[in-house]
Amino acid sequence: MKDDIFSLHLTFNFPRMLNGYESLLVDRFFRYVQIDTQSNPDSDTQPSSSKQLDLSRMLLDELNSLGLTETELDENGYVYASIPSNSEKAVPVICYCAHVDTSPDCKASEVKPLLHKNYNGEDIILPDDPEQVIKTGDHPYLLEKIGQDIITASGKTLLGADDKAGVAVIMELAAYLQRHPEIKHGKIRILFTPDEEIGRGVNKLDMKKLGADFGYTLDGPELGSFEEETFSADGMKFIFYGVSAHPGHAKDKLVNAVKIASAFIEELPSDEFSPETTDGRYGFVHPVRMDGNPERMMVEFIIRDFNTAKLNAYEEYLKDKANDALQYFPGGRFEYEIKEQYRNMKEVLSLNPQVSEYAREAIHRAGIEIKESAARGGTDGSRLSFMGLPCPNIFTGEMAFHGKHEYVCVQDMEKSLETIIHLSQIWEENA
Ligand SMILES: [Zn+2]
Repeated sequence: MKDDIFSLHLTFNFPRMLNGYESLLVDRFFRYVQIDTQSNPDSDTQPSSSKQLDLSRMLLDELNSLGLTETELDENGYVYASIPSNSEKAVPVICYCAHVDTSPDCKASEVKPLLHKNYNGEDIILPDDPEQVIKTGDHPYLLEKIGQDIITASGKTLLGADDKAGVAVIMELAAYLQRHPEIKHGKIRILFTPDEEIGRGVNKLDMKKLGADFGYTLDGPELGSFEEETFSADGMKFIFYGVSAHPGHAKDKLVNAVKIASAFIEELPSDEFSPETTDGRYGFVHPVRMDGNPERMMVEFIIRDFNTAKLNAYEEYLKDKANDALQYFPGGRFEYEIKEQYRNMKEVLSLNPQVSEYAREAIHRAGIEIKESAARGGTDGSRLSFMGLPCPNIFTGEMAFHGKHEYVCVQDMEKSLETIIHLSQIWEENA
């Protein structure tokens, strides 16, 4: 098994183009993206696909050969490792976390990473499918990268920079700190999770074993981006009940739940509260599934806002709309249930302000302008924050993820590495 994995490394397309980099960051990244680690939402196993373990095993081997301690790949597919403290101070234990899986939304096997050195600012035609063109018009960020080095896939698959850029940056941090004992830091825990893309990234995580005080996910997009806020999220399910009758003899008897559910959806405004009409800090209610028959119809929503208290207002709003719809269907009724999904990690991070402050200082020391944004979604960090590990998200350079146009800028990855080197030092300095 192990031999197979390492032989993948030999199938580089352009190994000669990787010369000239002092760090092995690009080398690592190429090695990791060529391993198919797609997670599978339809699987009940843990991890959801055993191929994720191909990368996890490789990471474990590499962590061991780097001389890290407390290395483990556990039965749930989590990789843990420690970089021991080299400081006399009592420094809080910091964890750096990335996910090994890639999105189920796009082909992820036989990824062929391509390095575009000294990028010239033109649209990038992907050679294995010339229909696939990464256009600067759609991706203006590329124009900021002229003269730098871009990595793309070859046109048939995603790239997997989400989140193998994060994995490579953390691995290179471990290698760097081993080579530079003069850099003082506290104990650092490394964590690689499976199944983040299908929302199960931390389901089986052993927080006690992790034993960290504060954490950072390395899973953010452009240079300098920093997220300490995510949506707060609930799921809400309505069940509408009609009154069934044989349609041939249904006059004045039948109440059709399909029609109730449709009327309910019609009640929702088309110009607000919807993902297709909101951005920035605005939340939404979003119907994601309908299923049933004239007797019983289920309508499922996801509800999102940065302000947790507003979720409740949205839920009341939906109930009102359901009642409005029922007016036209005497004899019909509904039930609902609400499930908490995740919460805005800012609620935890504002109680531990140093976690974000130190990250901002680290980005600043790396000579980068900070771009703070609020993630219109959840991250492993939002779950981790509420599990006791306050955990904002730091950029890695991964862009246009979950599709064939995914790319990453090498220099962004290097700045990400530089940022977490500084960050490790800042925790030690402030202890
Ligand atoms: Zn990710």
